[in-house]
Amino acid sequence: MNMPTRFDLPESELPRTWYNINADLPTPLLPPLHPATLEPVTPEFLSVLSPLKILEQDMSAHAEIEIPDPVRDIYKLWRPTPLLRAHRLERALETPAHIYYKYEGVSPVGSHKPNTAVAQAFYLKDEGGKAFATETGAGQWGSALAMACNFFDLGCEVYMVRVSFDQKPFRRFVMESYGGSVHASPSNRTAAGRSLLTEDSNHPGSLGIAISEAVEVAATSNGAMKYSPGSFLPHVLLHQTVIGEEAIKQMDMAGEYPDIVIGCAGGGSNFGGIAFPFVRENLRHGKRTRIIAAEPSACPTLTRGTYTWDFADGTGMAPVIKMHTLGHTFVPPGIHAGGLRYHGMAPQVSALLESDLIEAVSVDQVDCFESGVLFGRTEGILPAPESNHAVRATINEALACKASGEAKVILFNLSGHGNFDMAAYGRYAAGELERFEYPQEAVAEAMTHLPKVTFGS
Ligand SMILES: *Cc1c(COP(=O)(O)O)cnc(C)c1O
Repeated sequence: MNMPTRFDLPESELPRTWYNINADLPTPLLPPLHPATLEPVTPEFLSVLSPLKILEQDMSAHAEIEIPDPVRDIYKLWRPTPLLRAHRLERALETPAHIYYKYEGVSPVGSHKPNTAVAQAFYLKDEGGKAFATETGAGQWGSALAMACNFFDLGCEVYMVRVSFDQKPFRRFVMESYGGSVHASPSNRTAAGRSLLTEDSNHPGSLGIAISEAVEVAATSNGAMKYSPGSFLPHVLLHQTVIGEEAIKQMDMAGEYPDIVIGCAGGGSNFGGIAFPFVRENLRHGKRTRIIAAEPSACPTLTRGTYTWDFADGTGMAPVIKMHTLGHTFVPPGIHAGGLRYHGMAPQVSALLESDLIEAVSVDQVDCFESGVLFGRTEGILPAPESNHAVRATINEALACKASGEAKVILFNLSGHGNFDMAAYGRYAAGELERFEYPQEAVAEAMTHLPKVTFGS
């Protein structure tokens, strides 16, 4: 039997709209709160940080939001991205399941992140802005935003978590090649950074702290700079829904519909991107797809975090959001090589989990790298360490099908390739990665530092 492997859409099928899940949430999202007053933020407060069109999108309840033509024109450099059937992985697992993956690693920087970077840069340019400040962990987001800012002739200032800055210089060179400027965080360029460096001159940094620095720089720039988030906020997840919209058409080309959709979850953007259009099909069109977010056992925000109000950043300068959180003081364990290190989770993803419209699983980094190597040996692509969480969760479901004899259709998002992450693969191969469960005491301790919110109660 000749079964196709690859399902490609022509350029003319590139989506014209993003899907806004605000329209279909069971209860409307609660507003972000001001970090000092703990009352809903004013539009003025937010407009210091964000382009207006983007604030509108965060609050919009329209299900379909048009993708501007200049954004679609840039998307065409790598979109529509391919959908593939993982025949060779299926055979290696001896599973009756049909495994499909949507491959976002074909973007110029190798991940899904430019889907929102390009949109955000367009809106900033459109309203006469000059530059973005942002955070980056390993550098994927900084690379995507630096590329996008360069396309629209905007400045880009990136605060990069210090351990990554020191250990992963190649991503920095990518950002600088696109014209971005990169600073190790904590830095002495902000009050937040200076105070942490006084406590510990070798502070390793965290994503939350880098967010604090980027937010401070934008807030104190007198309008010269705005802040750009790489994940977490509604508009970021909105822009990522091109992934799921394309995948629905491609699954149709394959003549199948997924029983299970899986994405890895750090801040929630690539997961939301593939999952939300399928959540819509469940809610509106009676489909019964199981939708699973896969996260690290070392940073188990959805499976072990609390659904409560917490700061979006690490030092209490950014708005307070209702979400699943490990506490804004969370600093990920140094032995963790798998990425996805953010303390919180996108409010829309959190709300869907709370309503049982999606599921969450946690997977250990050692199992993730084992699965990533198997994926590379069968399908050829060595996935990003983050994506390996989705690969692992997919393999677990495929093995469950093998045990039960069911031929379920599983679709997962391969959010990026791992070609810049070979140091982590090297540590795995050398047996240096340990199993790690984030300790319950640490979760409980962090909960004592939550802001004391009375709003809505
Ligand atoms: C940044 C990144 C992630 C995690 O971020 P989300 O916002 O949760 O998607 C996952 N995979 C890759 C390849 C990334 O670069």
